[in-house]
Formats: sequence, structure tokens, C-alpha cells
Amino acid sequence: MSASQLESLSKREPLLWANSNYAPLAAVDAQRLDPARALARFKRHAATLRRVFAELEASAGQVSSALEPANALAAVLGDVPAGALGQCSAQPSPHEAVRGNWWIKRDDALPVAGSVKARGGFHEVLSVAEDLLARRGVECELDAPEASRIFGQYTISVGSTGNLGLSIGLIAARLGFRAVVHMSSDAKAWKKQRLRSHGIQVVEHEGDYAAAVAAGREQSEADPFSHFVDDEHSVQLFLGYSAAAEELAVQLNTHGVVVDEAHPLFVYIPCGVGGAPGGIAYGLKQRYGRAVHCFFAEPVASPCMLLQLASAPGQSVSVYDIGLDNRTEADGLAVPSASPLVAPLMRKMLSGVFTVDDETLFLDTYLLHQSMGLQVEPSAAASFRGPLWLRLSAEGKLYQKQSGLEHLMDQANHVIWSTGGSLVPEAEHSKFQDKGRGLSAAHPRA
Ligand SMILES: *Cc1c(COP(=O)(O)O)cnc(C)c1O
Repeated sequence: MSASQLESLSKREPLLWANSNYAPLAAVDAQRLDPARALARFKRHAATLRRVFAELEASAGQVSSALEPANALAAVLGDVPAGALGQCSAQPSPHEAVRGNWWIKRDDALPVAGSVKARGGFHEVLSVAEDLLARRGVECELDAPEASRIFGQYTISVGSTGNLGLSIGLIAARLGFRAVVHMSSDAKAWKKQRLRSHGIQVVEHEGDYAAAVAAGREQSEADPFSHFVDDEHSVQLFLGYSAAAEELAVQLNTHGVVVDEAHPLFVYIPCGVGGAPGGIAYGLKQRYGRAVHCFFAEPVASPCMLLQLASAPGQSVSVYDIGLDNRTEADGLAVPSASPLVAPLMRKMLSGVFTVDDETLFLDTYLLHQSMGLQVEPSAAASFRGPLWLRLSAEGKLYQKQSGLEHLMDQANHVIWSTGGSLVPEAEHSKFQDKGRGLSAAHPRA
């Protein structure tokens, strides 16, 4: 990273960082981490999931979300005048037309957990449950009375700012485990309340997300009848997320979208600790190789993956090291240090990272509602300006040029990953919309 980029990063100026270690042909190590294993596990338990969760009846037990056209969002974002908010140089001038096709991946509406965390969280709990039965030599479905009796002796715990807790807590409790969620002090009150209303124990910790994870890990290690879902190191979470790639590929195919070197696919995903976007990117790279370009989105206060990938490998860095405070309304993304499991996997695979300020999150949450009638949580809106960064910023244009993409942009497809929102109470949505509306009114369109 250049000195001026580092300065912008520490001053919380939104930017696009293109990964200088990006290797378009970086290979996926499917010996070690195979997305097909997660897909098979989800399939194996679809019938159980359907019985256990009424919400999964319609999808026959599949944990999946829709892919929808999003050119209406592209149009309203293309309308935002240059320099209206912050220093986002990616904001187009009104005459620059938005080209290519935009899609939105609706993980905000994933059943039961209402966020991308359903993918990783469900997968890990299913895998823990399978292992427990296998160790006891019991062969039965995961919702059989015999299984519930065994699970009732175990605790599954997790450290979370909220959404991972909802995902793990809800499925663990439903299968009969005791569920404990360790939360940071910045976790939203409604998330704690929702967990408790499902019989899930919530332990609150002073300090940030990393502190909650550390406390949870420590408590769990002392108990042989406890499994800790470790968001900073978990392979099973990562694999659960990676299964989304196959789902997306089927959907793109159904929509008649071609993905190859002449028709590049760009995917933009909000990033917290890195497990969800990392798993998805990993799966997509395995599926599409150099035809797919993955970018992560992080809050200006918490660009932990950007910082980690821009630093020398092997040493862990934190956003506090460069004077940032990790304070953001994007609670799903408020993480100071990237996953030591995921960051090395992304070092060559990831095309880049862009950052977004909180005002833009609220504005874009509002603009999504205005243009498409969808309500998401602010974390989910982090990805929305990805295509603009790529097309209009100097760094984005350089990436296009270096990757030989300039003449292909009209044939490109852009998938914006919307990562959470459907469990957010209506009163919270109203607050997000009010903030966004206020910002929109303060910066009227040209
Ligand atoms: C957790 C989360 C993310 C990011 O996932 P990580 O695995 O933490 O990188 C993105 N959006 C939402 C809404 C989330 O809850």
C-alpha cells in the first residue's frame, strides 16, 4: 500500500485498494478445504432442516436466497452527484451512464437467521451434531429423540456482535443443544432480546467483538461438553459460506448470465472478520477461476482485511494500530483484526477492498428501499458502491487496465451481496430509513 493510501485509510477517507498480490489464477486447495463437502452436508440434512424449521418448508430444507436484478439500484446510485458525501471519488458525475448488469444476492432474506451467517452457522452446527452422533455410534436423523437427548448434554457457544449469535443460537437451540452467545457491548439490544426470547443464554462483555470472542473461547475450553464456534478460526463456518458459490452459479445460469473471460463477473461482499466473504470468494474462485473478480467492502473505521492483506504475511495487525477506533453503525462489520484462517487464503485470491463511511451506509440503505422496496441493515449496504469504485475511480480504472478488462465492462455482471436485514425489527428499519432520508435531503440530487 502506498504511503498516501495508508494516510487516507487512517484518516477514514473512503478508498478502493487494489490488491497488489492478486494472482488471477490463484488455485483453490480443494484437498484441504472443499466446498463440495459443505454442499453435501447441507443436502444430507435438508429433510431434517425442513422438519425443524417451518421457515424452510418452502425451500424443501435448502438454506438459500434469491438472486434479483438490481439495475434500479444502479440507476439511483448513478444519480448521486460527485462529491456529495465524503471524498468518495467513485461517485459518478451525472452524465456517466451505468453500464453492465447489476444483481443483488438476497442473503438479507436467508430463512431463520436473516443474514449470511445462516450459511456458515448452520453448517458448523450440523457438522458438530454429526460428529457427536458418530462418536457415540448412533445412527439417526439429527432431530430424532435419541439425538436430542445426546445434544441436550452439550453446550454450543459463540462470540458475536449479533448475527452469528442469532444463526448459531437458533439452530443449536432447535436441535436441543444448550446455546450460549457471548456478545460485545456494542451489540444491538434487539438482537440480545431476540436471542433470550428463544431460550438462548446471552453473556455480555465489555469491549469489542474480539474481546467477546476471546471470553467465549476461554469459558468453553474449560468445559469438555462445550463446543465453541470460533469465528476467527473456524473451517466449518468458512466451508458453509463457500457453498453459496454453487447456488449463485445455478442462479446466474438460470438467468442466462454467461460467465467466462469475455464476460467477467464482479462480486462485492461486506467483510467483518472475513469468514463469510472469504468463503464465498473461495467458492467462486474454485468455480470460475480468473473470470470472477471478488472485492470486499469494509467500514472506514474497521478495514481489518484490507490492512491485513496490505501488510507483510504472518503477522497479525489491527485497525487500532493505525489509529482507527473500530466504531461503526455497521455492527456486523465492526471487527478490528481479520481472521488468521481467512486472510492468508485471500492474499492472492482477492482483487481488492473498498471502504465506506457510515453516512453512505444509511444513504444507500435508504436508496435501496426507494429504488427496489427492500429493507436491509446498514452492514449489508456496504457493498452497494463496489461497481462505481471499479468503474469510476482511478484505482478501479487501473485494475481494469491491468486485468485487460476495459473493453469487457459492457459485458460484465456485478453481484452485490446483501448480507443481512430480514430479522431487523420494523422500528429499527424506520430509524435507518429516517437517517438515510435525512442525508439524502441534505445532499439533493443535481
Ligand atoms: C457477519 C456479517 C458480515 C461479514 O461476515 P464476516 O464473516 O464477519 O466477514 C457481513 N454482513 C453482515 C450483515 C454480517 O452479519
